[in-house]
Amino acid sequence: MKLPAKLLEWRASIEKELGRLTGRTVWVVQLSASSFACGCTGITIFTAGLEMEEVEIFAPKITPTLREAAAELELDPEIIYASTIPGTSEVGSISLRDLCDECREDYMGVEEALPWSNTHILFIGEKT
Ligand SMILES: [Zn+2]
Repeated sequence: MKLPAKLLEWRASIEKELGRLTGRTVWVVQLSASSFACGCTGITIFTAGLEMEEVEIFAPKITPTLREAAAELELDPEIIYASTIPGTSEVGSISLRDLCDECREDYMGVEEALPWSNTHILFIGEKT
């Protein structure tokens, strides 16, 4: 399957899974393959209607779904984190990131949260 079709498929399936877990309507407004100037690559999932509290509660269930999606896209994320829209408790995006060497130095060893207060880490791990 080509990349655009995969992205469409995973956007829909992640939206469905988030809805199933929360028991509410959650929108995945956009799911993007991302590349960063530093060399990181990843997937960014832009959500609407999802609360950070729900991400924290459902992290053990959401994380495998996200990692599975990433594997389908041949990405092996070392870190998955959710960020709120500043000043709110609503999640704006969930990021899956395969780190470049520089960012790996910065992020690895950070257990609880990234240096930004609006971020919650769902997964951080060694490359498989
Ligand atoms: Zn980087």
